[in-house]
Amino acid sequence: MGGAVIDQDLRSWGHFPLVDGASVVPAADLLRGAMPVGTWLPRGAGRSYGDVPLIAAGTLVTTSELDRIEHFDAATGRCLVQSGCTLAQIHHHVMPLGWHLNVVPGTQFVTVGGAIANDIHGKNHHVSGTFGRYVIGFELVRSDASTRWITAADHPDLFAATIGGLGLTGLITKVELQLTRIPSTAITTRSIKTATLTETMEVLREADATWPYSVAWVDLQGAFERRGRGHVLVGRHASSGAGYEPPSIVARHAWLGVVGRPFLQPAFVRLGNAVKYGLQRSRERDAVMSYRDFFHPLDGIARWNSVYDPRGFLQYQFVVPNDAGYQTIVDILRAMERADLPMYLAVLKRFGSIASPGWLSFPQPGWTLAMDIPIRRGTEPADLREHLDPIVVAQGGRLYPAKDAAMSAATFQRTYPAWTRMAEIKDPAITSAFWQRVTSL
Ligand SMILES: Cc1cc2nc3c(=O)[nH]c(=O)nc-3n(C[C@H](O)[C@H](O)[C@H](O)COP(=O)(O)OP(=O)(O)OC[C@H]3O[C@@H](n4cnc5c(N)ncnc54)[C@H](O)[C@@H]3O)c2cc1C
Repeated sequence: MGGAVIDQDLRSWGHFPLVDGASVVPAADLLRGAMPVGTWLPRGAGRSYGDVPLIAAGTLVTTSELDRIEHFDAATGRCLVQSGCTLAQIHHHVMPLGWHLNVVPGTQFVTVGGAIANDIHGKNHHVSGTFGRYVIGFELVRSDASTRWITAADHPDLFAATIGGLGLTGLITKVELQLTRIPSTAITTRSIKTATLTETMEVLREADATWPYSVAWVDLQGAFERRGRGHVLVGRHASSGAGYEPPSIVARHAWLGVVGRPFLQPAFVRLGNAVKYGLQRSRERDAVMSYRDFFHPLDGIARWNSVYDPRGFLQYQFVVPNDAGYQTIVDILRAMERADLPMYLAVLKRFGSIASPGWLSFPQPGWTLAMDIPIRRGTEPADLREHLDPIVVAQGGRLYPAKDAAMSAATFQRTYPAWTRMAEIKDPAITSAFWQRVTSL
């Protein structure tokens, strides 16, 4: 299938850090047996925020041309795709037939290879776990030119190392996925307006018992006692009636990223959050939403990330155990205030207890909060390392590598103890800016 929507801009989504000196080759070269000289790294759509998709002075192996859906069995939902297929392409193919990916992130413009390498999660983690759980098998090309089909049964270590393995075990070229049946592409939703962080967490906890999808947008601005108020959005696939809505596989409105830049001043952000919060007047609002508006609301704006240019932004996403959730969030907010760190868009979600299949998969049971933090004069990655990471680590939590550009090697090694097993099994020719940062003590 043609028309992959891959961003050829070789920065990461946060436009930070800037890592120069990489050359680029298509994955087809490796398939012909032509291995890059020196170190290399597989590259998907570049929608990770920090430095996992970056390499300094090495070769990025891009998968944008590996974009074919090779086979789909509409009776069983098994789907064989090349690893550069975006999730949007898969949905374009399977939704009219009544199927859906089991796990989708906030954007559908990521590749299957990238989704596996970060073992991504969605709004349904509490009932479905991570993306990697639906990987039946994959083809892996290593720098010794070996090509193997990997399943959990036949190669348990390589399977568990590659799911959430940050691209370090080899180039995934083909993947077989298990999809799930859906009665409709529309989503029956409820938005619940909450007044405090305590209430937001309570509503999310209760909602998880009955709704397969849940997430909360939280307002971290304004008076401290109101911080964490927000809208809890829950949903499930509508039982019937909505028909098939063709997904757009091309994002639009790139100009918004530029026009929006002046409005990123803290006062505008505070106002914007207050307006968004106030727009919902009643405590509960029921609606039927398109799957795109529900799962991927930001995809309509191409390159919205450029709103944070020229310095870029960090996304800070952590998970902490359930009983530490409230206090950690309060401590993080106070630390951010003391350090004068800006608090912008924030999303709160509860991970369930389904185990992740990867050694380095991020999700663990508990609360996960993700915040956009623009880099500006006086706000540097070192601030997060110094002021926020110790709070998360002390509570038994950890940070999401897909979003990270700042954590120290000590933090990574303490919170991902399986990193030593990864160091043994990884492909010796593969590295990334992230891996070099977190393994150099
Ligand atoms: C708007 C937005 C919303 C998001 N929402 C979520 C969310 O809800 N949940 C979530 O978990 N994540 C979320 N993310 C993060 C995103 O899903 C992950 O970073 C994802 O891994 C990006 O995939 P990619 O194709 O862009 O891969 P890249 O960013 O290009 O690469 C990511 C990693 O995958 C490796 N990789 C890529 N392709 C291959 C391959 N073929 N073989 C081996 N390794 C490979 C790379 O080496 C790198 O380590 C979001 C990102 C954005 C921009």
